[in-house]
Amino acid sequence: MGLAPEQVAQWWAEQVAQPQRFGEGGDPEQTARFAAGELFVLDLTQPPYDALPNPYGVTTMLAAPLRVAERVVGILTLDHSGEPHHYTEEELALAGAVARLEAFVIERERLLEERAAARADALALAAANRRMDEFLGIATHELKTPVTVLQANVQLLARRFAPAALERRSAEDLARAVASIQPLLATSERSARRLSRLVDDLLDVSRIREGHLELVPEPCDLAAIVREAVEEQQHLQPDRVIQLTLPAAGTDVTVAADAERIGQVVTNYLTNALKYSPADRPVAVSLAVEEARARVSVRDEGTGIPAAEQDQIWELFHRVPGIEVQSGSGVGLGLGLHISREIVERHGGAVGVASAVGAGSTFWFTLPLADAA
Ligand code: ADP
Repeated sequence: MGLAPEQVAQWWAEQVAQPQRFGEGGDPEQTARFAAGELFVLDLTQPPYDALPNPYGVTTMLAAPLRVAERVVGILTLDHSGEPHHYTEEELALAGAVARLEAFVIERERLLEERAAARADALALAAANRRMDEFLGIATHELKTPVTVLQANVQLLARRFAPAALERRSAEDLARAVASIQPLLATSERSARRLSRLVDDLLDVSRIREGHLELVPEPCDLAAIVREAVEEQQHLQPDRVIQLTLPAAGTDVTVAADAERIGQVVTNYLTNALKYSPADRPVAVSLAVEEARARVSVRDEGTGIPAAEQDQIWELFHRVPGIEVQSGSGVGLGLGLHISREIVERHGGAVGVASAVGAGSTFWFTLPLADAA
């Protein structure tokens, strides 16, 4: 006679709340016969069934197992609500046949779902492998480049200042040679810094993966951290315009943070902004206080990031296809934002980006102010 929609909802709620699954507890002999394919006519007015919830006042119920091979995957139950009913041989045979058919339909659906899931897994694995291969390719190249520069410079210096050659050189010639050291030392220093940054990033990633990234939070002035990071980049790239906006003097922006790690996040945002925007465009860094939080934003006038990529850039190794470094050197390994997010979230803060293709990007993070924390 069917059920009203609210009865259907109630029925589902009861099923979900059922503490026991078929075969757990109950009569093991009956369970075994049921699993062997036997149908049962149960009298719900008698123990143990009379103790079960029976909101529709069912008296007799026919239960047929849904089986795939020897495995019970479900139960088909039929009843006549409160009407006492004697199930005929034909009715039993029909119920048994419907149950068999239904079991196959369910199993077929399950296999289709399993196949779809396996396909999705295989695709995800292939994508992960591809990213890993790509990463290894870039990492090797990125690490090799500064090493090559360092090696070449050391060789050049060794040749220019070989003791045997020095003896034969005039004072003037020697002075020239000494003067030529400066640019070599400068490129060597840049290469060493780049190498050390890449290795530090790799180390950080492995620490994050193993859950060993250590933070030492102490009360510190976020304005000072931001200013220091900006000054450092300005010193390294004196030709770039970096605008800094800090809250009015006297505004307290004390945060409980690991100053070095937060500085690392600002530097990562800032170096990205510089490298993914043209050299003649400014980059703006700002620190603002919003209620119980401090917000640091870094805005660039670079290529911008497509909406579909904005969630993914925080994933390990992810680099947006088609976004090229526009100025300065260094490709990067796609690690910086992942590390930044981990650091900020471990401080109880949040990260994000607002960007549109062709309209630049604003990367931001927030930290709870020390008072609030
Ligand atoms: P990477 O070392 O590759 O810069 P990150 O994790 O810092 O690694 O950044 C991940 C990717 O996000 C970059 O490869 C780039 O595609 C994109 N990205 C990051 N910052 C910017 C930005 N300011 N403008 C455009 N794209 C950016």
